[in-house]
Amino acid sequence: QEEHVRKPEWLKIKLNTNDSYTGLKKMMREKKLHTVCEEARCPNIHECWAERKTATFMILGDVCTRACRFCAVNTGLPNELDWQEPERVAESVKMMGLKHVVITAVARDDLKDGGARVFAETVREIREKNPFCSIEVLPSDMMGKEENLRILMDAKPDILNHNIETVESLTPRVRARATYERSIEFLRRAKEMQPKIPTKSSLMIGLGETKEEIIQTMDDLRAVDVDILTIGQYLQPTKKHLKIEKYWRPEEFRELKEIALEKGFKHCESGPLVRSSYHADEQVNAAESS
Ligand code: SF4
Ligand code: SF4
Repeated sequence: QEEHVRKPEWLKIKLNTNDSYTGLKKMMREKKLHTVCEEARCPNIHECWAERKTATFMILGDVCTRACRFCAVNTGLPNELDWQEPERVAESVKMMGLKHVVITAVARDDLKDGGARVFAETVREIREKNPFCSIEVLPSDMMGKEENLRILMDAKPDILNHNIETVESLTPRVRARATYERSIEFLRRAKEMQPKIPTKSSLMIGLGETKEEIIQTMDDLRAVDVDILTIGQYLQPTKKHLKIEKYWRPEEFRELKEIALEKGFKHCESGPLVRSSYHADEQVNAAESS
């Protein structure tokens, strides 16, 4: 990478090499489950799993029908649907003693329902086995079909999260198989279907967007009543993925958070290492108490 985009000090974090999760990781393999925490080698894993009791599961397999250019998930023909997966996720949530769980999935454009039924079943199983655990779902746009979103919203998750990921002008380059407009519409419909369920979205910055474009995106999300926003630095997973155009500075992240709160978001996490699911446990309360 060129000089001006060399990794700054505030991103040089030490991964916890003292691996205290061997047991949990083994359980994930035995139950054939995938977590974003492990697969993305998320630097927050210790804080999330051990202290905050939160984790992000990725269901519906680990092969995606899309190939977004920032994402490290494998692309190809996905695995067959596994109807036992919801139960195994629910059991793991229990064994980990989670207080908040995020359920995300690869985009299953090969399925008519986009995976919505297994997704909804997972929410129900978790709730049944873990009545005190809040559940956040983070689906793809499920091809923008209203009936798919309805199947998921009917399971009444505690938070509906759908990531806009980037500003409008960069969307075709960053998420080739999605559109900006479809994601905004998805969030609008979710709110319309279940007005009491908080909605949430995330932006990763550093892909070449301007501050004005970030603010425009905030306005577009607020226009459909999105309650919670997270903003984090894009980090290139491998050399084949999109280049980092800029490292936004910690103080710029702080300023963006202030702007977001002024715009009416009830909660905003904004910082270089913030991920969609970071401090998600706090957001449930923030959204509910307001
Ligand atoms: Fe997992 Fe998200 Fe926490 Fe990272 S921030 S460890 S992906 S729950
Ligand atoms: Fe990755 Fe989701 Fe895009 Fe699939 S749809 S490539 S999992 S970001």
